[in-house]
Amino acid sequence: MSVLSSPHFHDEAKAFEFLESVLWSNGVICPHCGVIGGRVYDLAGVRSKASAKNPEGVVRHGLKKCGECRKQFTVKVGTVFEHARMPLHKMLQAVHLMVSSKKGISAHQLSRILEVQYKTAWFLAHRIREAMRSGDLDTPYGSGGGAVEVDETYFGIRKGMKNARAGHAHKFGVLALVDRETGTMRSFTFDKFRADEVHPIVMSNISREARLMTDEAKMYKKIGREFAEHGTTLHGAHIYVDRKDRTIHTNTVEGAFSIFKRGMKGVYQHCGEQHLHRYLAEFEFRYNFRTANGCDDRQRSLEAVKGISGKRLTYNPTNGL
Ligand SMILES: [Zn+2]
Repeated sequence: MSVLSSPHFHDEAKAFEFLESVLWSNGVICPHCGVIGGRVYDLAGVRSKASAKNPEGVVRHGLKKCGECRKQFTVKVGTVFEHARMPLHKMLQAVHLMVSSKKGISAHQLSRILEVQYKTAWFLAHRIREAMRSGDLDTPYGSGGGAVEVDETYFGIRKGMKNARAGHAHKFGVLALVDRETGTMRSFTFDKFRADEVHPIVMSNISREARLMTDEAKMYKKIGREFAEHGTTLHGAHIYVDRKDRTIHTNTVEGAFSIFKRGMKGVYQHCGEQHLHRYLAEFEFRYNFRTANGCDDRQRSLEAVKGISGKRLTYNPTNGL
């Protein structure tokens, strides 16, 4: 028995039952009128219209009818899976594969495992990344006086830019914040490493009572005064942990960056700038629900499935998403 031998990964009816149990744990929600736990009827045995491929149509799994507004729906309505044209059980397999491989999984590999076309796999992977995207923070990092590490990194090459040797102008910029107390991270892209881009991110996500941890970059000096404490280490002098106070360092956030960079280098070589935030969301998700935070593959998969509702990814012919 492997994790992937669970029935909802192979049987379409079971896949719908599984998704219903996750998204409707507090009662069925009608996506049309919003009623929760209202009268709902199962429409068993309904088939889709006949087509050349399926002259008798195909069974419409999980079809329901709302007793309040009389409209039909399935649990996929209003989720990132709504308009995806592939069986739900394969999409659930894809979620599991993406959350359980540490560095991520390429669309090519996904297409081979699921036996679907490359484009289908690529698009599905982006739907799942959208499900992994977290919302706004309920509680700012460092609330209660904990340490929050902030650091920036650069990688890749922007479209149309030459790989210049010095400077970062030709690369993508990413700012990450790690809350040491909860062991979770949030990441943001920036265009230029300037106060007007960086300060608003730091101020809106970190509590004033936090102990801010950064390297010696000038950027953090001014904003550091806004916080209860600002610890810096002189990376230029190869000092990575303060000698007097061993809690002053940015090693956690640098560790998170190294996982991200290895994944982007090894698996996602051709990441367009317009998709970068989605890849970041994927790495951020796996980092926040990692084993060290007490989360196994199954729980991580469940968290990602919970994230599919309330988000919709529509096809945009201009940029492929
Ligand atoms: Zn309704």
